[in-house]
Amino acid sequence: MQQEQTLWGHPKGLYILFFTELWERFSFYGMRAILILYLVTKTTGDNPGLGWDKINALELYGWYTMMVYVMAVPGGLLADRWLGQKKTVMLGGFLLCIGHLILAFDTVTAFYAGLIFIVLGVGGLKPNVSSMVGGLYKKNDGKRETAFTIFYIGINIGAFTAPILVGYLGETISWHYGFGLAGIGMVLGQLVYIWGQKYLTEVGNFIPHKIDAQTNKKIPLSTIEKDRMILLALSFIIVIVFWGAYEQAGGLMNIYAKEKINRVLFGYEIPASFLQSLPALFVIITGGPIAYFWMKWKKSGRESSSMLKMGLGTIIMGFGFLVLVGAANQTMVSMDGKASLYWMFGAYFLHVIGELCVSPVALSFITKMAPLKYVSFMMGAYFFVTGIGNKLAGFIGKIAQTAGEKTIFMGVFIFCVFFGLVLILFVKKLKKLAHGADVVD
Ligand code: GLN
Repeated sequence: MQQEQTLWGHPKGLYILFFTELWERFSFYGMRAILILYLVTKTTGDNPGLGWDKINALELYGWYTMMVYVMAVPGGLLADRWLGQKKTVMLGGFLLCIGHLILAFDTVTAFYAGLIFIVLGVGGLKPNVSSMVGGLYKKNDGKRETAFTIFYIGINIGAFTAPILVGYLGETISWHYGFGLAGIGMVLGQLVYIWGQKYLTEVGNFIPHKIDAQTNKKIPLSTIEKDRMILLALSFIIVIVFWGAYEQAGGLMNIYAKEKINRVLFGYEIPASFLQSLPALFVIITGGPIAYFWMKWKKSGRESSSMLKMGLGTIIMGFGFLVLVGAANQTMVSMDGKASLYWMFGAYFLHVIGELCVSPVALSFITKMAPLKYVSFMMGAYFFVTGIGNKLAGFIGKIAQTAGEKTIFMGVFIFCVFFGLVLILFVKKLKKLAHGADVVD
């Protein structure tokens, strides 16, 4: 499906989805940045929290961050079976506005109700807004992948700014003002989406199942469609490996930065949490150049399948962990037992280069590969496996507490390089399952 009206070479609808998702991620990452802090802050004082202990708070945090992505599966099904993507995004957006705004109220009931609304809202919005980006382009349109990079940069503008703004307001004035600001961000996103409906007339509409005129039954998937679904399922293995390693950022790498990294820069000690914004900033800076690189690479006639990019991305990200092994070595010889901040910069930089070869590529890949009737479901399944990756990351972080960081960094490095190489070795075979759908752009 192609939209008529374009701006800077892309359908105008892309920019509507860009800003909708930017604000949705603003509210998501803003709220997430203060969630755990709010939970563990004492119930007394100027800005009281819920006074939970750390173990329970981390437990809830783990469940919450997993559930938002798990709910992407029913969110995808709802779109495929009944509502279509466009209406499901609208519904998810409303639930998110309610959820975030409820958190602005200072009661425990409001807190739980808010979380439930957000989990349901992300489940409805996140997979379907991503599928809609793909729906703006014809199956073989070379601009699809660039579009996903643009979209991904929007995600990261939200992810970069929100923890700083919401975090500042929440921590210094009131947690509920912070949650409220996240809510205002979501309302802005919803308004953009409502206003932009005129640019989205051709995309995200409900597609009924094809019915065989003679037997009056649903037409089953063809062999080619089945092969492509199998390919998607196989690609999800690397997705788990990638996110399982990458999501160490918020846990193990965060604690490592706090305890073992000398964070003094120009005479000022940077809080460890500030480093959490670094990956999003790197995405904003390097997203364009990486997309340009792949465009040139493809034009030169070289192998540029999604599988190759995902394999390479996982290896590059793995090398980020090798950089951390360097940091661990320095802590053993330095006077204060700490390593330089530049190791963290290097590691995050490689993580992001890897992320840009995997994450927007995977989104684009799903919209190319899944049969039209199953796009949203497969997108939901993708986010589900990223949720599993998140859980795996938490598990690896826990192991590191007994095995030691250096061993874990080395192990994750080897793990990523191994899986990345296996994928690259099998690219030719896997590509056959795509039946040409992954070589056109
Ligand atoms: N950071 C990206 C986002 O928020 C990817 C998250 C994911 O795929 N689980 O959209």
